[in-house]
Amino acid sequence: MVEAVADIGLIGLAVMGQNIILNMNDNGFIVCAYNRTTSKVDKFLENEAKGTNIVGAHSNEEFCAKLKKPRKIMLLVKAGPAVDTFIENLLPYLDKGDIIIDGGNSHFPDSIRRTKELEAKGLLFVGSGVSGGEEGARHGPSLMPGGNPAAWPHIKPIFQAIAAKAPDGAPCCDWVGENGAGHYVKMVHNGIEYGDMQLISEIYQIMLEGLGMTHDEMAAVFDEWNKGELDSYLIEITRDILKFKDTDGKPLVTKIRDTAGQKGTGKWTAIDSLDRGIPVTLIGEAVYSRCLSSLKEERTRASTILDGPKNIKFQGDRKKFLDQMGQALYASKIVSYAQGYMLMRQAAKDYGWHLNNAGIALMWRGGCIIRSVFLGKIRDAYTKKPDLENLLFDSFFQHAISNAQQSWRTVVGEAAAMGIPTPAHSTALNFYDGLRHEMLPANLIQAQRDYFGAHTYELLANPGQHVHTNWTGHG
Ligand code: NAP
Repeated sequence: MVEAVADIGLIGLAVMGQNIILNMNDNGFIVCAYNRTTSKVDKFLENEAKGTNIVGAHSNEEFCAKLKKPRKIMLLVKAGPAVDTFIENLLPYLDKGDIIIDGGNSHFPDSIRRTKELEAKGLLFVGSGVSGGEEGARHGPSLMPGGNPAAWPHIKPIFQAIAAKAPDGAPCCDWVGENGAGHYVKMVHNGIEYGDMQLISEIYQIMLEGLGMTHDEMAAVFDEWNKGELDSYLIEITRDILKFKDTDGKPLVTKIRDTAGQKGTGKWTAIDSLDRGIPVTLIGEAVYSRCLSSLKEERTRASTILDGPKNIKFQGDRKKFLDQMGQALYASKIVSYAQGYMLMRQAAKDYGWHLNNAGIALMWRGGCIIRSVFLGKIRDAYTKKPDLENLLFDSFFQHAISNAQQSWRTVVGEAAAMGIPTPAHSTALNFYDGLRHEMLPANLIQAQRDYFGAHTYELLANPGQHVHTNWTGHG
């Protein structure tokens, strides 16, 4: 008879799984480790887990027998069919009320489906976003669990214990919402990460080409910015990357091929925003920028064929312009998060989720790649007004953008004049100007559609009532 000793079981002994198990062990939980290739269980127990309370299993049956009830099982395996296969294989050994948590980067529709399928079998499914990579997994990730709410009280003590902690000590983990909400929020998190990285990269290109700064000079600016409102993990690592020298003393970053890869979560966010009709333009531009970057050969040919401003360097007050760049980055970042929240608002409406908006900002506040001081302000905004219509309507952000906007316009304009691309900064500014226009030229688009396709149009005075005009007729 196998004794049920473990508080939680974890399947998947790659980077993430091993580190989360060690983290749970550090926090006093007994974990049972299991993996498809069972030799990795023994290797893990003999090495990384040596001297800990971690136990192992070599079959689904043994694994389930070693878990205290209700069983809590976390999967950290490759997203996709592997998750379904494991769930299928575990089913014969589970009892009603047991909990399966998928901590991989699963696409949210799969988590919606799995929640429903397991609920029909009396099991509780949780799809949890996990962010922070290897280091986060080991010492405190950001965790975004969603799914069957009945699972939360059972997993909360473990999840909040192992999660990263915000500076005020609050765990960067709270219940996100129903069925696929956890993985949805993780997807948006990754999209925002794409946006933040793109914004920083655009600033880098202006510093390099427009101001002709050395990498050490740039690092000093990022170091300074990291002490203020832009204080964040991505600004911090950018400073370190810019300072880093290769063995020949040259900045290593200058030797890296300028083609950025992607695994798809940014693209998922952009596609989802199009499906929902929400203008998440900054993440979209960030994804397209990576696509453009990977057309290296075509760009190399274009660089010799296509015309643009010649050798233009910034002529004005450099110190002032650097401050303005910081402001442009800050304002664009605010727009990006506002767009991300607009998307989550729409998804919550579409799926009937009760999203924990302030909690989401707190979950992103520490442990994950987009962690920043700024997220504390977003949390404050949604704590003050949980049903806030738009982040930009919060007085803090409204004033922050108002203060930054002249600098923002200057930076986008100067970059355009120098021929330096700023797709993310520009789209953020265009979105901002579009949002604050009560009238947009869509009246003309309605008329054009009616002219060529008899699609009808609505009158300002009579919304909802569709009329058609014979535009080529007389009277
Ligand atoms: P991974 O390389 O994505 O996956 C390896 C694990 O999946 C191994 O345990 C492997 O078992 C198992 N696996 C693969 N195909 C399988 C199949 N068909 N059936 C059963 N098991 C299968 O591992 P990871 O990098 O640690 O990531 C785990 C999950 O966390 C992924 O969903 C990933 O996207 C997500 N995630 C990763 C990070 C990160 O920084 N790496 C951050 C956040 C989230 P074998 O040993 O038997 O091959």
